[in-house]
Amino acid sequence: MANSKKSLGALVRALEKRVQIDEKACYAASFDSMKYSFMPEAVVTPRKEAEVGKVLELANTYGVPVTPRGAGTSRTASATPIEGGWVLDLSKLDKIVIHSMQGQAQVQAGAVTAAVQQRAEEAGWFYPPDPSSKKYSTIGGNIACNAGGLRGAKYGVTRDYVVALRGYLPTGEGVEWGTATRKNATGYNMRDLWIGSEGTLGVVTGATLKLVPKPETRWTVLLAFPDEATALTAVEVLLESKVLPSICEFLDRNAVKGAEAFTGKPVFKGMPERAVILLELDGPAVLVREEKKRVLEWAKRWAEAFKPSRNEAEAEALWAVRRACSPAMFRLADSKLNEDVVVPLDKQVKLMQEARKLENRYKLPVAVFGHAGDGNLHVNIMYRREEPREVKRAHQAVEALMKAVVRLGGAMSGEHGIGLAKSPFLSLQFSPVEIQAMKAIKDALDPIGILNGRKIFERTPLWELRPVEHQFPWDRS
Ligand SMILES: Cc1cc2nc3c(=O)[nH]c(=O)nc-3n(C[C@H](O)[C@H](O)[C@H](O)COP(=O)(O)OP(=O)(O)OC[C@H]3O[C@@H](n4cnc5c(N)ncnc54)[C@H](O)[C@@H]3O)c2cc1C
Repeated sequence: MANSKKSLGALVRALEKRVQIDEKACYAASFDSMKYSFMPEAVVTPRKEAEVGKVLELANTYGVPVTPRGAGTSRTASATPIEGGWVLDLSKLDKIVIHSMQGQAQVQAGAVTAAVQQRAEEAGWFYPPDPSSKKYSTIGGNIACNAGGLRGAKYGVTRDYVVALRGYLPTGEGVEWGTATRKNATGYNMRDLWIGSEGTLGVVTGATLKLVPKPETRWTVLLAFPDEATALTAVEVLLESKVLPSICEFLDRNAVKGAEAFTGKPVFKGMPERAVILLELDGPAVLVREEKKRVLEWAKRWAEAFKPSRNEAEAEALWAVRRACSPAMFRLADSKLNEDVVVPLDKQVKLMQEARKLENRYKLPVAVFGHAGDGNLHVNIMYRREEPREVKRAHQAVEALMKAVVRLGGAMSGEHGIGLAKSPFLSLQFSPVEIQAMKAIKDALDPIGILNGRKIFERTPLWELRPVEHQFPWDRS
């Protein structure tokens, strides 16, 4: 255990104005969107990339745990300072430079995703990764979690847009992985090892991102289906016909019911609680026109009803149901476990059936919505946090879900990562040899284990973890 007085003293001496030790600042950094609070001892907010290296160097000298943090929107408690120590807040490193000729953006880790998208679009380019948290999430957090989002089916995930990275090893030395070139076949691909490593193998301070030309036009259609199986089978048929929608969001009947109660309006008049697909095409106008014809033919064959958009305003109105379903869930219970599982495209119907079984077996509301174009359906298990038996049943339901997903040939996370929320289930996905290989990499890069410890590998369920005993500065006064 670190000698807190000595280490904190050294940190304040080295980075005085960047360090906050007051209770308010520490509390604000003590949890992410999983809302499990573990108090850190200090929050450090570098304004120069080299200061990140200094923080890590000191942390190694004194054995202090460090938790990197972007915006704290993590869905897995991966940004929660479970071991106390220092939170390394990257949000003030937020420069964005667009290189139009190269079709690239040079960004610092704290740049907000939506700001990168906006700057790219102002220059006629497009940055496709589109997590729903984009107004808050940072590029560093997106890289650490390999974030996906709504446009995954056509455009892929964050990894597909990271050309090069720079940052600091857990031991504090600066590194650059990759170059701002179109190609690179030089040495181990450490860039891709860092992407999705949830801030356990290094801290990203900057990245070169690939941009693509901004789509000329988009077209949106909202479709109602009598049940979930029909909706998901229709998606399979559409994808098989080689239409590649930029967005293909699925909402099960529970999600639609919630959204209808939330907005006070039926999604389709006279047809309550249908399963719904929100589909978007984008690209050159001539191609979208062609694909639109094929989608309309498909819609007539498969959907009970559909509403195509005629302009941008109508397209936005169609999005209302998708936007409402997330907040609407909290009318069912105050807490949710949002499991971003992913299965092969032809197993989505089976996944949906498994979700229904969970609802019956564990007596909890379960709503499924998300990215049907790439098999990344989000299973939302709702529970009341103050009811210990419900908390237990919710976590049992997650375990049953993970088993089903692995059985279906899928993965426990498509975009949120593992953090602490899914770490007890790691052995369902990986063999002991595979887990040992991952741990060997962690040990090689972080020999004294200071960087985002226990994330990915912790076996105790999050809801059973207790904060470490700390002496905080405010306890001493
Ligand atoms: C309402 C809502 C909607 C969401 N929708 C989506 C979605 O559609 N798709 C999706 O993929 N995710 C989604 N998420 C999850 C979350 O937004 C993403 O995981 C996002 O990438 C986290 O970014 P952040 O900046 O908030 O990172 P944080 O939450 O601060 O951190 C996340 C992880 O990254 C690490 N980290 C942060 N910055 C760095 C850095 N510079 N270097 C190294 N490690 C770092 C942290 O230690 C932690 O492990 C959603 C979350 C919310 C709350």
